[in-house]
Amino acid sequence: MESFDRKKFFSGIKKVVIKVGSSVLTDDDGNLLESRFGEIAAQIFKLREKNIEVILVSSGAIASGMKKLGAEEWATDIHTKQAIAACGQCSLIWSYEKAFSKYNIHVAQILLTHNGFSDRKRFLISRKTIQRLLEMEIIPIVNENDTVAIEEIMIGDNDNLAALVTSLTEADLMILLTNIDGIYSEDPKKNADAEFISLVNEVNNEIEKIDGGTTGKTTTGGMKTKIESVKKASLFGVPSVIANGEKNDSISRIFKGEEFGTLVLPSQDKLKARKHWIAYNLKAAGKITLDEGAGAAILKKGKSLLPSGILKVQGSFGIGDCIICLDESGTELARGISTYSAEEVRKIAGKKTSEIEKILGYKYSDEVIHRDDLAVVSKKNEK
Ligand code: GLU
Repeated sequence: MESFDRKKFFSGIKKVVIKVGSSVLTDDDGNLLESRFGEIAAQIFKLREKNIEVILVSSGAIASGMKKLGAEEWATDIHTKQAIAACGQCSLIWSYEKAFSKYNIHVAQILLTHNGFSDRKRFLISRKTIQRLLEMEIIPIVNENDTVAIEEIMIGDNDNLAALVTSLTEADLMILLTNIDGIYSEDPKKNADAEFISLVNEVNNEIEKIDGGTTGKTTTGGMKTKIESVKKASLFGVPSVIANGEKNDSISRIFKGEEFGTLVLPSQDKLKARKHWIAYNLKAAGKITLDEGAGAAILKKGKSLLPSGILKVQGSFGIGDCIICLDESGTELARGISTYSAEEVRKIAGKKTSEIEKILGYKYSDEVIHRDDLAVVSKKNEK
């Protein structure tokens, strides 16, 4: 019995990414298991009743295409695989559509490749679209766009895709449903004495070297990519669960706080992780100079940056780009994500928040950089 209070932990979740592996959706002969789709839809319906937003990441396009086309073997050449995926993706979505229609829930298909995450503009557009779908109470179902995914832009497996989607959507939990109960000390198929690990506090070397399990005719990554994925989520500050999606009520059991699956705790607070990402991972697209009052407000009081404290704007950044905040002597104070473009900031710099709408004709927000999007990098003045 673990001492960790799972029930309390899961009761705070508001947005979850659930990845469903091909092995969960197909039987041993590769047929799509309509009953499994039904079960998933029923459990997600219950989450939705509790106002929990759900984004699905689903594999199964290739598995379903293989069955449909009578392909016995897992295709090895890329174009055949892409053709099979294209053919199977529609059956996959159709199965979800049928299952969710029972609850009057619409689903939407989102196909992404790696540049959907690395290209800032695409990242923001995908994020906005998914956000809009959630507001419209539609379930986004994400898969890799296998048809166009050549090596350079390929994510390669849906475990890693799920971690990227978790960060994209700023979800506060990621669940990977597979055909094994969770992480074992060794591959339980090879060693009957393998120990089940129900709680991982940190994805360290010991955990990372574990391999095996979850392999099958239609699966892609096995435990290796699952561990990569939960490690990523943990670095983003998000907890995750690897659990057996072939068992009844798997999702509901996780949310009830049952000791079901392996729970991986985040390595740091989500906001801290986000700020770290802003400070060290994003390429700055412009600079703004702040007056003393604005500098002190963000450094010492943890405030958002308002237009009134901005003296100068350099560069041609767009909405959502990372910008550097300087003091009047040119010392870097902070980095943050801009709510407005450089052109817009030039117009509202030095002006009061109440004047934004009059000047621009619209207003996205009071702040040029919201405090959650602002990472202080100046050590000397930091509170
Ligand atoms: N995109 C692949 C499919 O839909 C699955 C990749 C994976 O399972 O990791 O078949």
